[in-house]
Amino acid sequence: MGVKKITIHHQREKCIGCGSCVLLAPKNWKMNDNDGKSDLEGGVLHKNGVVSVAIDEGDCAANKEASDTCPVNIIRFE
Ligand code: SF4
Repeated sequence: MGVKKITIHHQREKCIGCGSCVLLAPKNWKMNDNDGKSDLEGGVLHKNGVVSVAIDEGDCAANKEASDTCPVNIIRFE
């Protein structure tokens, strides 16, 4: 039996690079030195500009906190 996965979505274009998600969920988020926005580790970029990745259920709480703290509210769950 595998670990349950949760999908997170990042509306990356609207990221203001505050670094909150990286601080709260460093396993899944990294700052991008090129444009100062955050990146979802292993994320896949879709045509609509949203980046998605499946994370382990155990990492959900940290990412929920990141989502709640994001000042532009661009981290969503599925
Ligand atoms: S918390 Fe939101 S605005 Fe801040 S770096 Fe993360 S995604 Fe970007």
